[in-house]
Amino acid sequence: DSITTDMASLKAEVEKFAQDKKLEIESLKVRENFRKEFMGNISHELKTPLFTVQGYIMTLLDGAIKDKKVRKKYLKRASKGVDRLLYIVKDLDMITKLETGDMTLFREDFNLNEVIENVVELIEMKATKKNIEVEVISPEDAVMVSADQERIQQVLTNLIVNSIKYGNRDGYIKVSVEEFNEDKYSIKVQDNGIGIEEENLPRLFERFFRVDKSGSRKEGGSGLGLAIVKHILEAHEEQITATSSFGEGSTFIFTLQKTKPTTTKETTSKLGL
Ligand code: ADP
Repeated sequence: DSITTDMASLKAEVEKFAQDKKLEIESLKVRENFRKEFMGNISHELKTPLFTVQGYIMTLLDGAIKDKKVRKKYLKRASKGVDRLLYIVKDLDMITKLETGDMTLFREDFNLNEVIENVVELIEMKATKKNIEVEVISPEDAVMVSADQERIQQVLTNLIVNSIKYGNRDGYIKVSVEEFNEDKYSIKVQDNGIGIEEENLPRLFERFFRVDKSGSRKEGGSGLGLAIVKHILEAHEEQITATSSFGEGSTFIFTLQKTKPTTTKETTSKLGL
């Protein structure tokens, strides 16, 4: 009898082992496909600017350009191409760190309004070029949140830069902070730009997804901006949603944890600690 029981449990164990191995192989296959697709995307992304740079350098090497001004123009364009490559590599580095879990979050308490101000200052030139007005609406002087300041600055930068890139001339961008609930603030970045068709909204945060590939590349995009945003917020256990009315504009809303009020001595002693 005990032999039958032993045999049955052994059989169950073997079956479980086989099942586990099958799952492991499946997951390895998924990862391998993911890696292949990622590598394919990367080389594709790097190729375009590399060809551009090479084109300008070859022309200069051929020595056909006698005019000093034209030579300088070509060098400037080549240098812009290199900048673009550096930008893509920086984004790739960031997404790899985020996706492999190699990114440590440095949570601290900070005033979100100051970070918004920093970002608005940084993007001012870009906005002015398209005569886009950037408005910030915040409920209080200090909106204290608990998050990784540098990463949240990146989130805001990516969203606002997108609103400029896909915004119309003479448009506007509204950044507003509101109380979401007792524990969180919601931050909204709204533009009246080209908008996004509803069918594309679910894919927006996928890496390398672009509605209009050539339009995005022309604007210097890597197709990774929103994927980075999503990963950073996920690492914070926060949410982001996108809504849009095609041809009228887009709105991105995300949440951030409020700074927890510090326990005063009085409450501490009441708790008998
Ligand atoms: P990219 O580098 O192409 O801008 P992102 O990941 O930042 O990559 O954005 C993905 C795509 O989503 C963009 O190519 C663009 O088509 C669309 N998109 C992002 N933000 C906006 C916006 N504010 N208005 C319209 N389209 C947007």
